[in-house]
Amino acid sequence: MECFDIAVIGGGHAGAEAALAAARLGCRTVMFTISLDAVGNLPCNPSIGGTAKGHLVREIDALGGEMGKAADATFIQSKMLNRGKGPAVHSLRCQIDRKRYHIEMKKRLENQKNLQIKQAEIVSVDTDNGHICGVTTQTGMKYSVKSVIVAGGTYLRGKILIGEYEKESGPDGMFPANALSESLRSLGVRLRRFKTGTPARIHADSLDFSKMEREEGDEKIVPFSFETKGELKNLVPCYLTYTNEETHRIIMENINRAPMYSGRVEGVGARYCPSIEDKVMRFRGKPRHQLFMEPMGIDTKEIYAQGISTGLPEEIQLQMLRTIKGLENVEIMRPAYAIEYDCCDPIQLYPTLEFKDIPFLYGAGQFNGTSGYEEAAAQGLVAGINAANKLLGRPRLVLRRSDGYIGTLIEDLVTKGTNEPYRMMTSRSEYRLLLRQDNADERLTPIGHEIGLISDERYACFLEKERMIDDEVKRLESIIITPSQANPLLEKYETAPIKTGVRLSELIRRPQLDYEKLAPVDSGRPQLPEEVAEQAEIRIKYDGYIKRQKAQVEQFKKLEDKRIPENFDYNKVYGLRIEARQKLSDIRPESLGQASRISGVSPADISVLIVCLKEMDGK
Ligand SMILES: Cc1cc2nc3c(=O)[nH]c(=O)nc-3n(C[C@H](O)[C@H](O)[C@H](O)COP(=O)(O)OP(=O)(O)OC[C@H]3O[C@@H](n4cnc5c(N)ncnc54)[C@H](O)[C@@H]3O)c2cc1C
Repeated sequence: MECFDIAVIGGGHAGAEAALAAARLGCRTVMFTISLDAVGNLPCNPSIGGTAKGHLVREIDALGGEMGKAADATFIQSKMLNRGKGPAVHSLRCQIDRKRYHIEMKKRLENQKNLQIKQAEIVSVDTDNGHICGVTTQTGMKYSVKSVIVAGGTYLRGKILIGEYEKESGPDGMFPANALSESLRSLGVRLRRFKTGTPARIHADSLDFSKMEREEGDEKIVPFSFETKGELKNLVPCYLTYTNEETHRIIMENINRAPMYSGRVEGVGARYCPSIEDKVMRFRGKPRHQLFMEPMGIDTKEIYAQGISTGLPEEIQLQMLRTIKGLENVEIMRPAYAIEYDCCDPIQLYPTLEFKDIPFLYGAGQFNGTSGYEEAAAQGLVAGINAANKLLGRPRLVLRRSDGYIGTLIEDLVTKGTNEPYRMMTSRSEYRLLLRQDNADERLTPIGHEIGLISDERYACFLEKERMIDDEVKRLESIIITPSQANPLLEKYETAPIKTGVRLSELIRRPQLDYEKLAPVDSGRPQLPEEVAEQAEIRIKYDGYIKRQKAQVEQFKKLEDKRIPENFDYNKVYGLRIEARQKLSDIRPESLGQASRISGVSPADISVLIVCLKEMDGK
């Protein structure tokens, strides 16, 4: 029998990151996927990043994950979203060449030491006396393993629906994984049904782009990876068009044929990735909805019609698409569809993503109830690190909400759970200004280095960058500018003149001014990399806010660090409300901080717990 330390079930965004991390940390790892031709597949929008998702990708890169680098190597258009707003919501989003991303990710997996990737369907996770001991494939092949990571995405008992048509299937016509769910249930994993949907893929030559608005990428491209250097170029434009009253009329006339409205879908859908029928039903008064025509790659004519995912019958899809400006003669290459699948209730997981009641079994990605490539990759990385560290006797990795969106994502899942596919948004974090996409390395690269996923060379570059930023901030704080030097410039930017000498940093803090605009009065300015200048500016401009948020974090760490013993019996705590007692017993939070975020646990309950834990310490 083949023996490995870790088996990863899934070659999607979660599985790939988990397998690479576990192998790089020194564990003999095997990754299974139903089709090697779908490794790193983008079954939905051919893009990576977007609001809050861009933050996740940069955090994955800062920790030593792969998605950012693979995206930089295969993007065809790049944009920094929300540039007009504060840095907390700046988010990178790239159109990706779907085929090239698959090839790139598969290549990285194939070249990874300690890792084997195999095309096989895992039908059972095997145990011996209740201990994980192996996995079995559909051919009956058995592998002996010590730990298993389930990252099966939308394949577990996958079923696609297009109007009245339905078929057991994974995405893009792949086989579903019908046996694994039963095996996981028999181990005690609680599963439920979620649903998501994707729009049609249409032929570029059947579109009239002259009737649409052309959308270009950014001139100056910021890469996802802190390691990506050199000039980056956009290769394609996207196009913007809109639905209209006629489109909405066709949808409303056929709404009962949409699986979500005919009651044929069992799974719960994503509120923040609504289908077009959801949008038309929910926003009746809205005369039109935005649609983006997104190329799926350089070597294909396939266009992804972003914003019009649906489960309506194919002939209705064609009718409704042909009412849209520029799509009057549209040809559908792949119809839109809805897909429902099994996923687990993440309340069953520790923040390490290990199942509380099934040691050495981990969950990651869509299987944990999230939606999105970025959310999946982030969890895969954390599950891979923790599965390896547990076997290697190294400390577990639990990221705090104040460390990053990855910490926020996992904490939300394992503490609050989710009743629909969970999508990351900046509003989910209470520390938005600290968790910017531009400083992901400052927050996470030291952790990645400590774990062993960030090399010493890369860490040295990071430290050098931090030194340059600190030096530049100190320099800007030390330079005094006189009124005669500054006032002509201040007048140009319509901000109040100065009467006495001020520090350059004081001027940078003015909303009308910034590092670039003050260059003419900053004669001794050193030649610095753009990202260093950007960081120096942000640290000066938002100094007050950043300090306040850091104080909040320190305040919270006191609760966060107050551990609750694993087998703590809440039923014995006098003064706890019944609802809190039940929720706490179910979720078994690891710290007072986690307990305080469980819905239904009040601040009064937390005070009772604090007293009780203090008494226990005093005994
Ligand atoms: C139709 C559709 C629409 C979507 N719409 C959106 C959207 O609007 N917004 C959004 O953010 N995200 C959307 N997504 C979700 C996005 O695709 C996923 O979030 C992401 O791909 C999840 O990554 P993952 O690694 O968890 O799973 P996946 O990418 O699904 O990969 C799962 C992997 O597991 C393998 N696998 C499964 N079972 C087994 C088994 N038993 N044995 C061996 N291998 C197995 C598969 O072969 C595959 O390699 C959509 C997905 C689909 C399919």
